[in-house]
Amino acid sequence: MNLKRNILFYIIPLLFIALDANSSDTHIESKLEDLVSKMTLEEKVGQIFMVEIGSITPDQVKEYHIGAILNGGGSFPNKNKNHELIDWVELADDYYLASIDDLDQDNQKIPVIWGTDAVHGHNNLRGATLFPHNIALGSTRNPDLVKSIGNVTAKEVLASGLDLTFSPAISVPRDDRWGRTYEGFSEDPAIVSLLGVAMVKGLQGELSSNFMSNETILATAKHYIGDGGTERGIDKGNTVLNEDRLMAIHGIGYQKTINAGIQVIMASFNSWNGIKMHGNSYLINDILKSKMGFDGFVLGDWNGHMEVEGCSVDNCPKAINSGIDMFMVTDAWKELYKNTLEQVISGAIKRQRLDDAVKRIIRVKLRSNLFEKGVPSKRKYSGNKSIIGSKEHRDIARKAVRESLVLLKNNNNVLPLNPSKKILVLGKAANNIKQATGGWSLTWQGNENENKDFPGATSILRGIQDTVMKSGGSLEYSKNGYYKIKPDIAIIIIGENPYAEYKGTLSDLTFSLDDLGHLEWAEELREKNIPVITIFLSGRPLWVNRELNRSDAFVAAWLPGSEGHGVSEVIFESRANEKDYDFVGKLAYSWPVSSEQTSLNIGDIDYSPLFKLGYGLNYSSTINIEQLDEKIDRKDNSLIGLTLLEGWPQEPFSVVLRASSDNIILDSKSVTTPLNEVTVSIIDHLVQEDTQKIIFHGDTESSWNLLSSKKMDWSQAAKESGVLVVNIKSLQNDINETLYLGSSCGDQCKAILPLGQLLDGLKIGEWNSIGIDLNCFEKNGLNLSEVQKPLFFSSQGRWSFEVGRVYIDAGTGGKEMLFCPHIE
Ligand code: BGC
Ligand code: BGC
Repeated sequence: MNLKRNILFYIIPLLFIALDANSSDTHIESKLEDLVSKMTLEEKVGQIFMVEIGSITPDQVKEYHIGAILNGGGSFPNKNKNHELIDWVELADDYYLASIDDLDQDNQKIPVIWGTDAVHGHNNLRGATLFPHNIALGSTRNPDLVKSIGNVTAKEVLASGLDLTFSPAISVPRDDRWGRTYEGFSEDPAIVSLLGVAMVKGLQGELSSNFMSNETILATAKHYIGDGGTERGIDKGNTVLNEDRLMAIHGIGYQKTINAGIQVIMASFNSWNGIKMHGNSYLINDILKSKMGFDGFVLGDWNGHMEVEGCSVDNCPKAINSGIDMFMVTDAWKELYKNTLEQVISGAIKRQRLDDAVKRIIRVKLRSNLFEKGVPSKRKYSGNKSIIGSKEHRDIARKAVRESLVLLKNNNNVLPLNPSKKILVLGKAANNIKQATGGWSLTWQGNENENKDFPGATSILRGIQDTVMKSGGSLEYSKNGYYKIKPDIAIIIIGENPYAEYKGTLSDLTFSLDDLGHLEWAEELREKNIPVITIFLSGRPLWVNRELNRSDAFVAAWLPGSEGHGVSEVIFESRANEKDYDFVGKLAYSWPVSSEQTSLNIGDIDYSPLFKLGYGLNYSSTINIEQLDEKIDRKDNSLIGLTLLEGWPQEPFSVVLRASSDNIILDSKSVTTPLNEVTVSIIDHLVQEDTQKIIFHGDTESSWNLLSSKKMDWSQAAKESGVLVVNIKSLQNDINETLYLGSSCGDQCKAILPLGQLLDGLKIGEWNSIGIDLNCFEKNGLNLSEVQKPLFFSSQGRWSFEVGRVYIDAGTGGKEMLFCPHIE
């Protein structure tokens, strides 16, 4: 009797919820039919476009009936990195009002939605709370925490007037060389699903309660499918797996997030068994939409349609026919619109397919109550500065930092530390917030940032300082290893420099900095019996045996974001009236025993990591880690294959423009010398930001220089038939002999070769690879063992050209060779 009553007690409310959902679905579907039946063809085509704010004005949104807009990483209202919250809201209003403003009364007024990559908090917004990246959240294994992070992110996004985030990434990274490893919660699909679902619930609300309430935003599960499974961890590469494995590893997260109500799914750049996902009808139409039952919309990735065979950035019926419902497009949107419209008229895209895409988009808009919400500035939280980076939000981020730290080593229980001691902190990463926030932080790569770009954030150093000062201890900080007071304890903070997407992809897993000074600091300190604690910041597990051997304790802190306090709260003993924190983080990725163990994953037949998935010590553990093998088993010294430049210079290179007496560093996407002698801009060619456009404006001698912060030794590479390859595209063909290419080992030590004539012979607008035999440089005066400036161009005349990848290759392999004159 009692039991029965209990059951009814649970069942009846469930029935109501179900009935309610059904009736609202029926209501939405009938409204949808009605709306779509009244739309013109032009309106429908516009609806399936999402265009980047840098490429479209509100007036154009109105004119073309555009359905959605986005801002990419590092793209802000008015292009202003130092924007205010209100700038976002005002721009959101402008686009919104344009989308519903139509003098033609017959036209349908369908509000535009604005999407952004709020992937670890609202990371494009200055002053926002930046949470640890997903790789760190994976170690917390805490779905409630992840859900609250989703909630907070939704609020900060709402404050800026936006509707949609391109998160969570439910990628399952299987090769840690991949530059996007940190975007995935884990290599284990079960952890990815658990936390992916939690994030979706936090962002969109829960189906059974607050789904799409005015405190939530739309979320996107990405990138469908197999983004983390590509061979060699190559970004946008090929995932080779049979269908069962593909689904078991990379597919579960989609089914689970669909069940949790995900409304948008982004297609991936990668291929599956050789077929690009943006053109994969089987996996999108048959599997995702039919079998998994996804009824929201499939969004293309950033010009991702152009990767499909037979497509270009402005022409791709195949993507829509394969089930992509909305194009994500930048500069080429107008041509793409024109072509798509024509293709619908000609039948190359079926009308039913277009209607289906439009319905899916508007269904999502209806479900998110977009039509009732009104102008962005009038919505809940909109323009509310006090919630951006509020204490409440930062406290959640700080908790996430504490829970995501993984203690890999704690020999003789050296941690927790006593904060009343003399503490030495070493390493620039300690006070370099960008190394804690990583990529997708304000800018795309995250590497251009300085501490002042993160108002309200706390560096790890600052956190330690506060703890130590409060406890009567003393602290000395040294970036470079020199210190004045002999400490009781030293904390070395090191880590990767920020990166995003393909720019972060590695050839092996060795953790290497420009110099290995940190190893020497540790050795010297330990010789003096000073315990060394290493805090390691990284977007993936890396081979750190050398660092582990030289540390008494070692903490994997991942990319913790803006709340550096979280680290000191755990590594120090608490003082009176403070809470005691222990380590709770457990590895969500297997940790490699060698730099070649790149695709090491739980479940492998020959699974032999250094630390297993699930590993993580705490203060009750008594495990001591023995000395580890330090042998580097890769071909360490060969420079063959090294990329020096690809759009942006790679570490440790930089580009400096020299004209008159000024030296200008290339530190933003477009730079011109003060007297307008040289202009360099970073542009997109095959992928984003992979090319430099260089314009010498003429008149005065000026140069473009690729500098290395440490001397390079090219002699071995020269013996291996090394060639410096420059991918180049000429943009002008004036006969002009004043353009030179060279390489230098100091002011009086360089090789200069005439480039003008060769470039002049190339077809304008066509890409070519120029090869320069390293021995040719030597013949012309370069000391191969002391290269400081591997490449420069200098000119007195007017020249414009584009430079793509610059790298060292073995042999000439069909490249255009630079004539090697021996200039005495
Ligand atoms: C990113 C954008 C970024 C762009 C740079 C894209 O892949 O997702 O957010 O701004 O590349 O060109
Ligand atoms: C990335 C996506 C991102 C989009 C918009 C693409 O390059 O692959 O993850 O959401 O750009 O910035």
